[in-house]
Amino acid sequence: MARSPSPDVIIAGAGMAGSTLALALAHGGLTPLLIDPQPFEVQLEPTFDGRSSAIAFSSFRAWDAMGVGDALRPYAQRIEQILVTDGHAAGASSPGPSPFFLRFDAAEIADRVRSEPLGYMLENRRTRAGLSQAVAAAGIEVLAPSRIETAEFEGAGARVRLADGRELSAPLVVGAEGRASPLRRWAGINTIGWGYGQSGVVATVKLEKPHGGVAHEYFLPNGPFAILPLTENRASLVWTERTEAGEALRKAPPGALLSLLRRRFGPFLGKVEVVGPTFVYPLSMQLAERLVAPRLALLGDAAHGIHPIAGQGLNLGLKDAAVLSQVLVDAARLGEDIGSAAVLERYAAWRRFDNVSVAAAMEVFTRLFSNDVPALRLARGVGMAAVNRIGAARRFFMQEAGGAVGDLPRLFRGEAL
Ligand SMILES: Cc1cc2nc3c(=O)[nH]c(=O)nc-3n(C[C@H](O)[C@H](O)[C@H](O)COP(=O)(O)OP(=O)(O)OC[C@H]3O[C@@H](n4cnc5c(N)ncnc54)[C@H](O)[C@@H]3O)c2cc1C
Repeated sequence: MARSPSPDVIIAGAGMAGSTLALALAHGGLTPLLIDPQPFEVQLEPTFDGRSSAIAFSSFRAWDAMGVGDALRPYAQRIEQILVTDGHAAGASSPGPSPFFLRFDAAEIADRVRSEPLGYMLENRRTRAGLSQAVAAAGIEVLAPSRIETAEFEGAGARVRLADGRELSAPLVVGAEGRASPLRRWAGINTIGWGYGQSGVVATVKLEKPHGGVAHEYFLPNGPFAILPLTENRASLVWTERTEAGEALRKAPPGALLSLLRRRFGPFLGKVEVVGPTFVYPLSMQLAERLVAPRLALLGDAAHGIHPIAGQGLNLGLKDAAVLSQVLVDAARLGEDIGSAAVLERYAAWRRFDNVSVAAAMEVFTRLFSNDVPALRLARGVGMAAVNRIGAARRFFMQEAGGAVGDLPRLFRGEAL
């Protein structure tokens, strides 16, 4: 395909957040261009990303509104219930069920959210495949493998030079290159953050007994252990462990991992079979001090990397994409300069509070639930039992986790841009 001479927005990073932004901009009539050092095909390989993501129902609405939902839905497992238990997993080594638990049920908010589930579980590689096909179908130009070497943000537009010497310019450049974002660094935006000394161990298993669309989250002393339902009666396990234990699990022979898992699971989901490799992700928290700079906007993990304790990281990035696309498309319709400080400040003002408050909430959850201090265990157990007894509190948490609270962008309401 011939390259369009002047894109409206250059997006560095064709991950799930950057691709969603590109699709939303194209859907709204703008011309985005995606740049990524890795070709899409690499992202789709089974060894590239073993994670599955909990996608909030309002994030899925955005994909539906852009016409991507139908391609993803066959691989999207509805989460009908979430069962949160403090203490021991339901394994044979467990001394018995914890008295402290919390149950969220999609049926309780069905009237408010058009019978949508609490969320969907989707393998990242399926999402990446669906998004890459949609990007191609929308005629969005992708330069991959390619890399930005230098960027200048001053004046009436941003100019970038690629590693192969080509120069491109646009009114706006978006940094969606994940946590290490070079654009963020070049624009002089600092980050705050810290490591947790924990890793997320991820594996996919096949279950013997039906999971019924129930997601289980157990808060164990070393961190949460989640069993998240996938299509074809499989489950994605996300197991938070201290860094050294995580590394040991990655290297453990399949037999050892399986017997450990069987002890954790116990009999309630029947026989468990590990399918595919085990992945280990170091966990840390990182927030950019600003979301925008002259001619630059950050989105996704480039702006905020958080603990996966409640499966919110990608959802935040998808909301960034929905908000940024709406702000830019509306500005273009009014004839404004889409890269101007006034337009970018609308995006920053809309997203700042949500990003920081979700990151702060995940921080509190992580500190509160990744330990075995008796007083804290009692406090969190009592808190969970209290929320479980109050229907209004449960419904609030379900809508909050579903991303359906606050000032929603049009795509998150399921509307066209
Ligand atoms: C164990 C675990 C479980 C998780 N579970 C969930 C969950 O259930 N739900 C949820 O919402 N979130 C979850 N997350 C978080 C989620 O995975 C991330 O927030 C999400 O992948 C970030 O997407 P992104 O597109 O912003 O960044 P990335 O996925 O990091 O993509 C960045 C892209 O930029 C490209 N890139 C890199 N360098 C450059 C460069 N110099 N120039 C241009 N492009 C570049 C990369 O090749 C890549 O394609 C989880 C995270 C972990 C670790």
